[in-house]
Amino acid sequence: MSYHVNDKGYYGQFGGAFIPEMLYPNIEELRQQYLKIMSESDFKAEFDQLLKHYVGRPTPLYFAKRFSEKYKTKIYFKREDLCHTGAHKVNNTIGQILMAKRLGKTRIIAETGAGQHGVATATVCALAGLECIVYMGEIDIARQAPNVARMKMLGAEVRPATSGSKTLKDATNEAIRDWINNPENTHYIIGSAVGPHPYPDMVSRFQSVVSDEIKWQLNAVEGTSSPDYVVACVGGGSNAAGAYYHFLDDERVGLIAVEAAGKGVDTGQSAATSILGKEGIIHGSKTLLMQTKDGQITEPYSISAGLDYPGVGPMHAHLYTTKRAQFIPVTDDEAMTAGLTLSQLEGIIPAIETAHAFAIFETKTFNPDDIVVVCLSGRGDKDLNTYIDYFKL
Ligand SMILES: *Cc1c(COP(=O)(O)O)cnc(C)c1O
Repeated sequence: MSYHVNDKGYYGQFGGAFIPEMLYPNIEELRQQYLKIMSESDFKAEFDQLLKHYVGRPTPLYFAKRFSEKYKTKIYFKREDLCHTGAHKVNNTIGQILMAKRLGKTRIIAETGAGQHGVATATVCALAGLECIVYMGEIDIARQAPNVARMKMLGAEVRPATSGSKTLKDATNEAIRDWINNPENTHYIIGSAVGPHPYPDMVSRFQSVVSDEIKWQLNAVEGTSSPDYVVACVGGGSNAAGAYYHFLDDERVGLIAVEAAGKGVDTGQSAATSILGKEGIIHGSKTLLMQTKDGQITEPYSISAGLDYPGVGPMHAHLYTTKRAQFIPVTDDEAMTAGLTLSQLEGIIPAIETAHAFAIFETKTFNPDDIVVVCLSGRGDKDLNTYIDYFKL
């Protein structure tokens, strides 16, 4: 059994491309071209060169001594927080900007929730000299002002999405609408392993550099390229997809996906999409989705803006349904505490999204000789105000 996408764009029963007729030419062009372009040697060379000299890869695989002692197992951190722009998202935007150039596109659109993907997109547009328009919910624009300022500084235009709940889902709808109206010159850079095929697979492949590095880095220090567990937080699923990618079909490696439970899975204020979700279609893909009995999308909630998406990528929906990955919900309070613990044990302030992944060690025990790799997806500078308010520092 393979947990990778099949040639029809499905992961088991999930995935596919459920798109309006008007988007068909764009998606079809991308579907026909993406693997071919990614396998070209000049594409690979340019991608690798930028990851090395611009993003700063390879990122360290760091053995966390004090954290390991506390939780009585061997814990390594994959330091995506040390990527340029402070998180893993830039691995994908670098790949997609090179893809857009190969496809002859001159105008880039993107959606963003917390602003992290918007910043990563604005960054690579500046790098490539392409026009950049970022759709962002009106409410998110107000609560994520520093990232809005960053995007503007980088030369991007930030357009408010004023419909619905005025957050990420609505920004995504606006971006799709824009793409329908500008099919010729525009490429849509989706920020996670979500959306219609081929996006989940393309994004996962660009992020797969994370597990590729884990393998050789771990081999150098432990003499094995297979950890016992790989742990990652899941919003749409891109950092997890990257950290799992080369281990998906190696069932010796346990995969642990950490979802944001918000105030608690059963409180009605949660973003634990797999556990609470039912099969449905969102933004072009069949997946697990939080919805009411009659199929209306439920508003997700998490203290971390990067995890409150009502769906999850189709790869993860499949990993959940087949039980290939273990899904663990973590509340706001548990994540915030883990963020503080990590800061004070290891001197690393994580993004609140990332802090969710570190909270599992409080409840799940590992064997002393297990090797556990945690994807440290991003740094916490953007979240300092939330930490300060929460802990009254
Ligand atoms: C956006 C973000 C996430 C969640 O997105 P995924 O696509 O699930 O990885 C997690 N961590 C950080 C630091 C982020 O910026």
